[in-house]
Amino acid sequence: MESLDVVAERVRRLDLWESLQASGAPVHLPSLLNEQRIFYGGRGIWVHQDRTKGLGGSPSGVSVSLLHTGSSYADDLSEDGVIYHYPKTKVPGRDQSEVEATKAAMRLRLPVFVVTYPTPGAATRKVHLGWVQGYDDAEGWFLVTFGDAPGEIAEQGIEEAAFTPVGPKVRRQQLTKARIGQPRFKFRVFQRYGGRCAACGLIVQEMLEAAHIIPAEHGGTDDPRNGLVLCCNHHSAFDRGLLLIHPETLRFEARDHLLEHIQVTQSSLSSLPNKPHPEALRLRWQMQMEEARLQRPEAL
Ligand SMILES: [Zn+2]
Repeated sequence: MESLDVVAERVRRLDLWESLQASGAPVHLPSLLNEQRIFYGGRGIWVHQDRTKGLGGSPSGVSVSLLHTGSSYADDLSEDGVIYHYPKTKVPGRDQSEVEATKAAMRLRLPVFVVTYPTPGAATRKVHLGWVQGYDDAEGWFLVTFGDAPGEIAEQGIEEAAFTPVGPKVRRQQLTKARIGQPRFKFRVFQRYGGRCAACGLIVQEMLEAAHIIPAEHGGTDDPRNGLVLCCNHHSAFDRGLLLIHPETLRFEARDHLLEHIQVTQSSLSSLPNKPHPEALRLRWQMQMEEARLQRPEAL
């Protein structure tokens, strides 16, 4: 049974959102957001302790808003969500308390305001109604999706779920960094495989990417079983067809001594905690064999 004060806080936040929407302005002055206590103070996460301390049994309070300036992690913001990194200000106890308050927003299904800059360094702010959908302590980030309602929570039992490797093709102009669904895809791929390049073991998060096995422009699904964590080098090699993964042996393959030259140090995917879906690997392999055939017409 949900407590009445949690319900009241949800209604209060949705009312604030509604009045902000009703103003009709796509962007707002920070002073207005301050006045309405939508965002307040100089930190990335605003908890509004006076109002939320103890709410729903959360001693750290419940985050009201998250500021994403875009000065770092710009790629993690999309039109429909954001991967929001845990604060790293090294103020003792406070970072952890803000993380707990944001986890509380997820547990209590309370929306948060995600405040962004319409352009880097802009004087105005854009506000999204966000829902904390998941967190990953190993990577140190939250998945927050935007919309009027929370949508479905991260599913259980994905291994048994039907796998549809290919959907409608995505037009090239849609394949921008702000592509719909990208934060969710990245979050789920890192959750599934861990923050480590499958080809070389690199663990520097800033250099790691969520790669599609069947490429998005060929309609490859955003199901994490169609993904892998690769560093930017090996992602590029994989997308260019320089690096292949055999669908049965799960071994990395490449022409001549290329595996050595591009510093692939892992022999296969077999050490990964979870594997990609065999169908994704099989289809990708077929696509690459077909491409290779077309590039060598003399072999016909
Ligand atoms: Zn790598």
